[in-house]
Amino acid sequence: MAETVFQKIIRKEIPADIVYEDGDILAFKDIHPIAPVHILIIPKKPIESIATMDDADALVVGKIFLVARNIARDLKISEKGYKLLIRVGKDGGQEVAHLHLHLLGGARLSENIHPV
Ligand code: AMP
Repeated sequence: MAETVFQKIIRKEIPADIVYEDGDILAFKDIHPIAPVHILIIPKKPIESIATMDDADALVVGKIFLVARNIARDLKISEKGYKLLIRVGKDGGQEVAHLHLHLLGGARLSENIHPV
């Protein structure tokens, strides 16, 4: 798997606005936010996508959802709600080949999913 910008962020070789970190997970603000809250939650392990993850990755992939829940609680957007988004591959619009969960919120969000 080719090196991605997210691995450089994990190694702190390029800056990011980090909001959470533990041994397995990193969360940081998206550089081009599309919502008032737009945070990316990633496993430190370079899993390319949901399509290629191993069964053994289920624990860490589950953990990224727990981290998203906790960040949403901390940012006080839980009650009004938010959106969690994972793009998979080309048709899914995935641009960075390192699995990432988008946490989107802070406003009522439109659907806007249609074939291009
Ligand atoms: P996706 O299209 O689901 O692969 O999303 C990739 C996301 O990564 C986009 O929302 C980008 O704005 C975001 N992104 C790319 N490079 C960086 C970076 N250096 N720091 C923070 N977010 C980034």
